[in-house]
Amino acid sequence: MTSHFSRVAFTYDRTRYHPPEVSGRIATALTAPVEKLFRDPLFLEIGAGTGRIAVPIIARGYRYIALDNNPAMLEVLRQKVAGVARKARLVEADARELPFERASLHAVIAVHFWHLIEGWRQALQESLRVLRPGGFLFEGWDQSNGESEDWRIQQKWQEILAGLGYRLVRGRHQARLEEVEKELVRYGLEPRSKTVAEWVELRSPRTSLEMLLERIYSFTWDVPEEVFRPSVLELTRWVEATYPDPDVEYPIHWQFVVRSSRVP
Ligand code: SAM
Repeated sequence: MTSHFSRVAFTYDRTRYHPPEVSGRIATALTAPVEKLFRDPLFLEIGAGTGRIAVPIIARGYRYIALDNNPAMLEVLRQKVAGVARKARLVEADARELPFERASLHAVIAVHFWHLIEGWRQALQESLRVLRPGGFLFEGWDQSNGESEDWRIQQKWQEILAGLGYRLVRGRHQARLEEVEKELVRYGLEPRSKTVAEWVELRSPRTSLEMLLERIYSFTWDVPEEVFRPSVLELTRWVEATYPDPDVEYPIHWQFVVRSSRVP
C-alpha cells in the first residue's frame, strides 16, 4: 500500500482535486463545531496524504497535526505548507499506533482512509483513545452519483476485465464505511452524516482513461499486470471508437460527506 502512495504522491492532487470554494466549505464544516466548544482546538488528521483537507485548515491558523505513514505524501504536504505552517506538525507514523497521549486532542479527521488499512479497527480505537471528552471524530469522503462518462468508462473496463476472466472488486470504500459505522455504534457513539459541499468537475474521457492507465484508484491496484495490460489496451481502443474527440469534457457531479461522532 505504502509503495502505491509513493508512486501516486505527485499525481494525487491532479486527480483528487477540490475547487477552492469546496475546500473552504469542507474546512469550515470540520472546524466550526469544534471551535464552538473548545478554545484553540488541536486537530489530528490520520492519513493526511498531500494535504487536500489539511492545507486549507492549516492556512486558517488552526493547530493541526497531519499524520501519514508515507514520506512521499508528507513531502508534498510539507512543500505546500512551507510558510503557513506555524501551528502545524507533520508526523510520519502509523495510524494504528498513534504517538499521542490519551484524551489529548479535540478532533480527529479521517478522509478516504479506512478502506486502505487492514487494521482499521485498531486505528479507530486509537483515534477514540486520543480524543478528549466531547471531542469529535470526523470521517469524510467524496461521492459522485455514478451517472458520468467517467463512470461509464470505468464500467466498460470492468466488463473488459470480466471478459478476460478477472472479477474487479469495487465498492470497498462504501462497504468499509458501513463496517466502521457499526463499530462506532458498538462504542455507543451516534454517527451523523451530512453533505457539506457539492460541485461539478469537468473531466475528459482521455483523463478518465489516463487515471485508470496510471492506476491512480486503489480499486486498480490488485489487477495483475498480465491482465491489466491487455484490458487497458482494449479500453483505449473502445474510448477512441466511442468518443470522436476524447478531449471534450463531461460533468461529474460530486458531493463531500462528513460523518461526525462525538465521544462522551
Ligand atoms: N486524507 C487525504 C485526502 O483525502 O486527500 C489523503 C487520502 S489517501 C487516499 C490515504 C492516505 O493514507 C495516504 O496518504 C496513505 O499514505 C495513508 N495511509 C495508509 N495507511 C496508513 C497508516 N497505516 N497510517 C497512516 N497513514 C496511512
